[in-house]
Amino acid sequence: MSLHDITARIAKAEAAAGRPAGSTKLIAVSKVQPNERVAAVLEQGHRCFGENRVQEAAGKWPEFKQRFSDIDLHLIGPLQTNKARQAMELFNAIHSVDRPKLARTLARLAQEFGNCPDLFIQVNTGEEEQKAGIMPADADEFVAECRDLDLPVQGLMAIPPVDEEPSLHFALLAKIAERNGLSGLSMGMSGDFEQAIALGATHVRVGSAIFGARVRPEG
Ligand SMILES: *Cc1c(COP(=O)(O)O)cnc(C)c1O
Repeated sequence: MSLHDITARIAKAEAAAGRPAGSTKLIAVSKVQPNERVAAVLEQGHRCFGENRVQEAAGKWPEFKQRFSDIDLHLIGPLQTNKARQAMELFNAIHSVDRPKLARTLARLAQEFGNCPDLFIQVNTGEEEQKAGIMPADADEFVAECRDLDLPVQGLMAIPPVDEEPSLHFALLAKIAERNGLSGLSMGMSGDFEQAIALGATHVRVGSAIFGARVRPEG
């Protein structure tokens, strides 16, 4: 697969779902990929990337930002409150807002900075113990809490359980977003982004299908 193939598959999935062309944003997930592979995708003109660790992103993106303009960097992994400041300085969007304490920290920093990245609330649709995300039953209250804090919540994000039909989780996420008046849906990865687009994904997070298998295991 290549960037070109994935872009073509996204366009096809949008058309099949009767959605406007270009209504899905492709986040190229570059975590643990060698810099040459990332640079190759940048050279093809792609600008939107996802990283799951603040530290790793802080190590590689400042240099790319000097070489390439208009980079749109998304944090898709869990965020510790003590890294929130660094994350807000580095990322254009954060997809992993998942608890009140983090929301309050982001709100305080947004006040201080006078701006805030686009935010997505991560929902643990599979109610998995080891996974981050607010539980579906608590999502409405948490959305309201984030809005009370004046946080710019664009939508919801989910990572379905590996062994379940992802469409059920995409549909659940879409339903929670709809009843909360949120238009953004960050869902779909290499193996299931077409299904996610069929169910309304506005952001798909695709790593290995663009870059090839990750060369070292993610921690
Ligand atoms: C790694 C990762 C992805 C991309 O996974 P692929 O299967 O390589 O496409 C998407 N979302 C999150 C949250 C990830 O951590």
